[in-house]
Formats: sequence, C-alpha cells, structure tokens
Amino acid sequence: MPEKEKLLDKIEEIAKNRGFFWPSQEIYGGVSGFYEYGPLGALLKKHIQDMILDYYVMQEGCLAIEAPVLTSISPWIASGHVESFADRMTECEKCGEPYRADHIIEEKTGKGAEGKSMAEMDAILKENNIRCPKCKGVLGKVYDYNMMFRTFIGPGKNKIEGALRPETAQTTYMPFRRLYEIARRKMPFGVIQIGKSFRNEISPRKALIRQREFTQAEIQFFTPPALDEWKNFDEIAGMEAEALVKGSEKTVKMKFSDLVSKKHAKQPIAYFLARSLELFRKMGMDMKKLRLRQHRDDERSFYSSDTWDVEFLSDKYGVVELVGIADRTDYDLKRHQEQSKQSMEVTFDGKKFIPNVIEVAYGIDRPVICIMESVMKEEKERLFFSFPAAISPYQVAVFPLVRKDNLPVKARYIFDLLRKRYYTAYDETGSIGRMYYRQDEAGTPLCITVDYDTLEDGTVTIRERDTQKQIRVHEDVLIDSIQRIFDGEGIESVGNAA
Ligand SMILES: [Zn+2]
Repeated sequence: MPEKEKLLDKIEEIAKNRGFFWPSQEIYGGVSGFYEYGPLGALLKKHIQDMILDYYVMQEGCLAIEAPVLTSISPWIASGHVESFADRMTECEKCGEPYRADHIIEEKTGKGAEGKSMAEMDAILKENNIRCPKCKGVLGKVYDYNMMFRTFIGPGKNKIEGALRPETAQTTYMPFRRLYEIARRKMPFGVIQIGKSFRNEISPRKALIRQREFTQAEIQFFTPPALDEWKNFDEIAGMEAEALVKGSEKTVKMKFSDLVSKKHAKQPIAYFLARSLELFRKMGMDMKKLRLRQHRDDERSFYSSDTWDVEFLSDKYGVVELVGIADRTDYDLKRHQEQSKQSMEVTFDGKKFIPNVIEVAYGIDRPVICIMESVMKEEKERLFFSFPAAISPYQVAVFPLVRKDNLPVKARYIFDLLRKRYYTAYDETGSIGRMYYRQDEAGTPLCITVDYDTLEDGTVTIRERDTQKQIRVHEDVLIDSIQRIFDGEGIESVGNAA
C-alpha cells in the first residue's frame, strides 16, 4: 500500500488523538451520525467558516443573518420537504438492519438507482437476489423515509408541530420581505446564513461527511427571473477547472467562459463555482482532487432547474460534495407565498415578479476532513498538517527553551504580545523537540523559541513547520516578521539563519 494511503487509513484515529474530532457521546456508547470537535478541530472549523463568511460579506456584499434551527412545520410544508424530503429505504426482514435502497443496489450491481421508482427498485432487488449484507435475510419492500427530525413545540393542548431544519435556506426565505427592504429594494442581493441543519440519515457514515447534525453556510442570491449574466463574471472567465457536464462520461478541463458559451451553465452559477474553487485553494485543499459536476436530470433536487457541485475526490472517502450551486427558480418564494398568504412579489425595474434564487450551499464539516486529507504529511519521524496560516487552528506557538533561569517569564511576555493578534499556543512542558513535534501535529505554521540569547540581545528563533528552517529576529520586529512570512515572503529573507 502506498504510504499516503496507509496514513489516510489512520486519519480518524489521528483526528481523535490530536483533538480535531471524535464520535459524540462516547461515554454512552455513541450515536452514529454525530461528531464533536476537539480543541484543534473547533478552531479549524471556525476559521473555514469565517473565510466563507468574510468572502461573501466583504467581497460580494451579502447580508448575514441567523435564524432558529427549530421551527414550526409550516415552512417545510411550503418547501416540499414534508412531502418529498425522503430517501428510498429497505429493511432486512430478519435482523431489521435499514439500508438506503439506491446505495445497496449500486453496491451490489454497480449501477446507479437514484431516481428509480419504488416498484423499479423492488424489481431490481428481486432480480439480482440482493440480500441483507449482514445476515443474508430477505430485504423488505422499498418505501419512502422522510429525513426530517419532527417534534412538538410547547406543552399541552396548544403545542404545535415542529421540526429541526433540514437546510438553512428556508429560514432565509421566510424573512425575505424584511431583507428586501434592508437591501434597499435592489436586485440581485445576497444573504448568507451559517448554522446547524439536521437530517435523520438512514446510514450516517464516513465520519464528518454524512452526519445527522451538521453545519452549513448557505448563500441565497435573490434575482430577477431568468438572469443570465453576473456582474463580475469577467474576472473569472479565464480560469480553468475540471468539469463533468450533464450527459457526458468524461471529466474535461474547461475555461469558465467555455462553460457559459457552450451553454452548460449560466454566468451566475459558473461565477460561484469559480469563486468556490478559489476559496478551497486558500483553505489548502488539494486542487488536483477537485472537479465540477453538473447534476443529471434524474438526481437533481425537486426544487432546482440546474445544479452543480464542486466535488473532492478523496482517496479514503470517495466522492465528497463540498458545495452545491443551484438555480432554485422562484419555487421557494412562490410556495411560501401560497402557504403563508403573504405576498413575495416585488416591483423592480418596472416589472412585477417573484424573485428567483441562486443558492450557493457549503457544508462546513466536509472541508475540515478534506483539508486534513490534503495537507497531512509524514516525514521520517514526524507527522504534520501543512495548513495555510489563514485556517490553521493556531497560527503561532511560543515556548521557552528550558523551564528555568527566567526563560518562561520572557516567553510568557512574548506570548502575551502575540496572542493579541494571532491564535497563539503556549507550551513549556517538555524538551524543545517534543514541543515542536506537538505543534507540527497541530499544524501550527510557526514556532517562536525564547532562549538564553533572548535575555542577552532580545532576539528569538522563528521555526517554520514545513521546512523546519529557523531564523533569528529581534522581538521588536517579531510581529512584522511573522506577518511577512504569512504574506508569502520566504522565511530566509525575513531574518538571519539561526
Ligand atoms: Zn439482516
């Protein structure tokens, strides 16, 4: 087995031991589909989330909102989730094990079954004599299983039916009228919401990739109907990406301008596919593993007229969908208008219409593990994560060379200086080699060491994670030096070799 594969095999073990993430509720045996982030993972996820939020608010001018995750059932009747948010399921008649019908068919026959009717799936199961992989029992009739978590809100007779949201999108559509006013009745305008969503998956698996509770960053752009153009499209038109278009079997390298001119995608969708690739690159994702894929007609969500994903081709987990970009038409607002009896119509540019929506929907948990896979490295005696400084859990760490002769006092002083500006770790519990090793495992890009020379002449050592190169700089220019390295200047041009 190649080295990297062996390493990837251990990624969940490494994540657990180093404090990135682990299965939730472990002391009670765990519940599948729920994970907890440890001290490193919680920061890594926060930085990924902030990078997306900052991009959409600062660069795209989106409004940010935050809505409750628990709502009445009404919005989900309107959205169609009560009726259609279902997976086809079959259960073993002997041991009761549940299976997603399309998954088990694909596993056993090698052919996709998404979009097939229940009767068709029953027939395929029978024809191929597909049995329960666990006990060889007979599989029961295929049925629709709704993935929403339903509950009640309030006590007694006046309690109302509620649900945990299966996506943030609807909770952004409900206050549309207020948002439109706040956006000064301009169009298009975007609204970003980051938060938890819930899906009662039949078979949660692949660690963070298919969970029952997960974090999304969903951006809804409200636009006039049939909007074909996007204002900054020219900025990305020349960029290239691997793309698998609907009806084609082969992924081909394409310019975004071609994607549009060959009518595979409209400008708004192409634009946000390109911007998403840029964000993933900044996060440290292995660009060779990313591709664009257009949904087939038979797999597209019920509300969408065109959907594209950016996919990460993981060596361990297979195809991972990182972001979905969909033309949701006027479906959602129209349905909310019908259900709530509140008008969603606007008059813009002399025309009356219900706005259309272009949705950009990121999962925030999936990038965590795809980035870890992309940057995990093993070298001789050390294992490290080569995170870019912008998303690394800690950006800097400070240690005293030894725990005596006032070195810890000086190191603490440097630590206090840096922590005002960076996520900074402090350690004095072990040999210097051991402390470097720990920070390599955490993915901290730079370590600052205070030694006897520091007390004499005020210089400290900066050690770079990836190259293990060390330089000395004066404490007065330490922040400036760190920033120059983070901005891309080579470490050797920033100080004298140590
Ligand atoms: Zn069984």
